[in-house]
Amino acid sequence: MTIPEPKFLVDANLYRLGRWLRTAGYDTDFVDESHCAELTLNEGPVAAHYYLLRQALDGGRFLLTSTPEIDEMRRAHGTVLLIESDNLDDCVEELGAYLNINWHLNPFSRCTVCNTELTLTSDPTSEDNAYCPSCKQVFWDASLTKRMRSQLDNWYQKYSY
Ligand SMILES: [Zn+2]
Repeated sequence: MTIPEPKFLVDANLYRLGRWLRTAGYDTDFVDESHCAELTLNEGPVAAHYYLLRQALDGGRFLLTSTPEIDEMRRAHGTVLLIESDNLDDCVEELGAYLNINWHLNPFSRCTVCNTELTLTSDPTSEDNAYCPSCKQVFWDASLTKRMRSQLDNWYQKYSY
């Protein structure tokens, strides 16, 4: 039996980290910020924090957040991963202290916009491209993947084992 790869729910402050997790191939959802703002306004911040924790627990996802109050909630242990850096590289390092992230998991296999697994285009002239069946967009032309792959390679060498 193989251990399933971790899945993530990411708050808006950690948006860049979340996009990179998707780029590496991890199943990554983003928090519904407008719903949280509404809950905070109508019922207070604790209600919004509880909603996020509930969503992560129900979805079997780790919640990556920069909000210490969420990390301090009952039942947060084992689900909430507090990431406090502003800098992307430091966020990657902080996450690596909790979990072994394989930055070479399955790069460029997911849509960075909606998290859907991409389908390779059948056009033989665009073999580097992949198609999102949900957004109907084509992703990952060769020059972009080359730049992004070197970032993934860098983190892989530093933090993956
Ligand atoms: Zn998409």
